[in-house]
Amino acid sequence: MELLNIKEYTKDWKAEMAYEISKMAQAPTLSIYQVGDNEASNRYVRNKLKDCAEVGIRATHKLYDESVTEEELMEDIYYRDNSDGIIVQLPLPPHIDAKRIARAIPVEKDVDGFREGSPFMCCTPGGIIQYLDSCGFRYEGSNAVVIGRSEIVGRPMARYLVDRHCTVTICHSKTSRNYLYTLLNWADLVICAVGKRGVFRSSEVDPKTVVIDVGINFDENGKLCGDVINDIGSANVTPVPGGVGLLTRCQLLANTIQAAKGV
Ligand code: NAP
Repeated sequence: MELLNIKEYTKDWKAEMAYEISKMAQAPTLSIYQVGDNEASNRYVRNKLKDCAEVGIRATHKLYDESVTEEELMEDIYYRDNSDGIIVQLPLPPHIDAKRIARAIPVEKDVDGFREGSPFMCCTPGGIIQYLDSCGFRYEGSNAVVIGRSEIVGRPMARYLVDRHCTVTICHSKTSRNYLYTLLNWADLVICAVGKRGVFRSSEVDPKTVVIDVGINFDENGKLCGDVINDIGSANVTPVPGGVGLLTRCQLLANTIQAAKGV
């Protein structure tokens, strides 16, 4: 199995979604809530707006001042939003409980897939699954190692892989280095979602092992990079940038189309 080029793959995926939307009676709509002026959030929101415009989703950016209260935000989301999909850009300021805000989003509009019982795949692990499907990855009987146990990446990723009959081990900060390396030796698939540069090197795993690098870090020169150091330039390690971030963005668009169609 060969990994597809993610830039080309997501370009094609977007073209398919644009075509699908062009056949719909009404364009899907998405509300993007943001509180405050966080530089990274501004960049993420800009990208989401650009993606939506590209495929024909009508997105509205709902930007609030830091002084907005949790109640005001919850009421706007729950009572006053008529969009097909709703997302809230994280982080939120400390006086707003992100979990409570997430619960204000009706499940049928929760296109980030964060809420329990959401009918949508969580965007990052969901995008990875679509990609692995398209690459022809054989899940059944494969040994998968998921490094990281967050609610938005590691845990849902592990669940999706178990559902597809992989044997999955989840590692985290308390996993011993020795055991992690033992697992890496046996892995057919590694999903690395830690947020630290240099969790392992590509030369430390079998060249046939598929490595999906979710991490977003900056190296000593301030250059964007992943968790995994691809010291042998393996084609089986997804790049950062130009990797999982693009898959995540496409999955959000796919979820919004699904929401508009009624799930
Ligand atoms: P998170 O909530 O901070 O979780 C990180 C996980 O890594 C935790 O479970 C932590 O273990 C584990 N960990 C920390 N140090 C470790 C180590 N040395 N060895 C093994 N595990 C270790 O982060 P997240 O939200 O899942 O995101 C992870 C990374 O992916 C970040 O860089 C984030 O920016 C990136 N990300 C990218 C995308 C994208 O679209 N490209 C989307 C989401 C996230 P404990 O639970 O024990 O603390």
